[in-house]
Amino acid sequence: MQRLCVTVTAPTTAELRQRRDATADADMVELRLDTVRDPDVAGALLGRRLPAIVTCRPKWEGGCFAGSEEERKRLLSEALACGAEYVDVESTAGFEDLVTQAGRRVVLSFHDFAGVPRDLETRLRIMRGTGAQVVKVAVKTQKLSDVLSLRALSAGGDDMVVIGMGEPGVVTRVLPSRFHSAWTYAGELAGVGQLAPEVMLREFRVRDIGPQTAVYGVVGFPVAHSVSPAMHNAAFGQLGVDAVYLPLAAADVDDFVSFARAFGLHGASVTIPFKVSLAGRVDEVSADARRIGAINTIRTSDGRWIGDNSDPAGFLDPLAGYRLAGVRAAILGAGGAARSVAVALGSSGSRVSVHARNAERAAEVAALARGSVGPWPPPTGSWELLVNCTSIGMHPHTQETPLRPENLAGGTVYDLVYNPQRTRLLCDAERAGCRTIGGLDMLVAQASQQVSWWTGVRPPIGTMREAALRKLANFGGAL
Ligand code: NAP
Repeated sequence: MQRLCVTVTAPTTAELRQRRDATADADMVELRLDTVRDPDVAGALLGRRLPAIVTCRPKWEGGCFAGSEEERKRLLSEALACGAEYVDVESTAGFEDLVTQAGRRVVLSFHDFAGVPRDLETRLRIMRGTGAQVVKVAVKTQKLSDVLSLRALSAGGDDMVVIGMGEPGVVTRVLPSRFHSAWTYAGELAGVGQLAPEVMLREFRVRDIGPQTAVYGVVGFPVAHSVSPAMHNAAFGQLGVDAVYLPLAAADVDDFVSFARAFGLHGASVTIPFKVSLAGRVDEVSADARRIGAINTIRTSDGRWIGDNSDPAGFLDPLAGYRLAGVRAAILGAGGAARSVAVALGSSGSRVSVHARNAERAAEVAALARGSVGPWPPPTGSWELLVNCTSIGMHPHTQETPLRPENLAGGTVYDLVYNPQRTRLLCDAERAGCRTIGGLDMLVAQASQQVSWWTGVRPPIGTMREAALRKLANFGGAL
C-alpha cells in the first residue's frame, strides 16, 4: 500500500502539535519546525501517535527558517536526541557529522526549484553513499517528460522518495510506487504542488492504488483547476474500477504523446489547447470528431489510440425529453463547443442558425448542421431553442450576458457555461418564462460518456455531479 506523509505547518509549536494530532489517516507526519516562531523540538514531538520526520528548512532551500545554521543543526540534533523517527537534512547543508550521528534516521534531501538537473542520478548515488536511510529528491517539473526522467531514476529498495514539484509532477505525488518512492507527501504547501491530504485520500484514493491500477487523465494546460479529476475519480470509486484519473499538464503535444506512450496511459480527456492538435496524433478519429475537427477523448483499443468527442452526446443528454427534429435552434458563438453543438443538433434534425461576431467562423459552424448564419443577436421569436456556446457570463464575469432580457420570450435556453451554475442568461430566461438548462448537465454527461467508453460500464451520474459541484464550490473550476 502506498504510504502517506502529511506535512504539518503552524505559526506556533502548540498549534503544530494540535494540527499534527488532527491529521487523520496519515502513516507519518512531517513537522515543519521552520514554520513556527517558537521552535520547541521536544514540544513538537511530545505525545505523537505517528512516526515523525522533523524538518527545519532554511530560507536558502525554500523554507522559512531565518536563524543561523548552527541553531538549525542544534534543533535537528535535538530532534534525534528526543527520538524523532527521522530528521530531514539537506544534502547541501554540510551537516555530515549530523548524518553520521543519526545513524540510519536521516532523510537526506535534495531540492531544485528551477528544474530537473541532468546529474540527478549521480547526486542520488552520492547521497546514498552517506548512509542516510532515505534519500529524497524534490525537483521542479516543467513538462510531463520530466516526470519520465524521474521514473527512470535507479530504484534502491525502500530508500528513496521522488517528488516532482510543479503541475506535471502531480503524477509523482499520486503514484509514488511507480517512482520507487517509499512514501508521498500531502499538505497545504500548494506553491510547490502539494495536494491536500483529503484530496490525496478521497479524490485520488492513493491508498487503493496498486501495480495494476489503470491510469487515465485530462491533458491540457493549465489543468490544475479542472473539475474532471474529481468527477472521473468519483465514478471509478463508485464503480469499483481499479483506475485513477490525473491532471496531466503537458508542455506540448509531443510532450504528452511521449509521456502517455511510455507510461502506458489507458485513456485521456483532452482539453484546451490540445483538442485540435491531438486529433492529428491518434491512430483513428471517430466520424463525429472528424466533423467537429477536434477530439476531447482518447480511448485505447488493442494498443491503438482512438480520438473521439463526447461533447455532442453530452450536449444532447439533457435534451432527452425534447423533440428536436424541425425545431429552430439558434447557436451563439462559433468556437469549439459551437462546432460540437452544431453536429449534435444537425444530426437531430433541428433547423440551425449560427450567430457569432466572426461571420467566417459562423458559416463554418452552420455548414456542420446544414444551417444558416444569422445576425447577432438573434431576433426575438426567431428560435425555440437557444444555445449559448460563447464564454460570456463565465466566472469571474458573471454579470455579463449575451442577450438582453427583452430578446428572450419563451422557448428553451441552454447555457453551456457551467461556472456559475445559474448564469445571468439563465436567470433572465427564467424570468421571461423560458425553460432553462445549465452547462453542468452537459459537463457531467460528456464525462460519463468518457467513462462508459473506457470501462464499458455506465457510471453513476449523481456521484459525478456531486463531485463536480464540490470541486466548483472549492474554486472557480474550468474543464
Ligand atoms: P472557444 O472555442 O474559445 O469559443 C468561444 C466563442 O465565444 C467564440 O466564438 C468567441 O468569439 C465567442 N465569444 C467570446 N466572447 C464573446 C463576446 N463578448 N461576444 C461575442 N462572442 C464572444 O470556447 P469553447 O471551447 O467553444 O467554449 C465556449 C464556452 O462553452 C465556455 O464557457 C466553456 O466553458 C463552455 N463549454 C462547456 C461545456 C460543458 O460541458 N458544459 C463543454 C465545452 C465548452 P470569437 O471567436 O470571435 O472570439
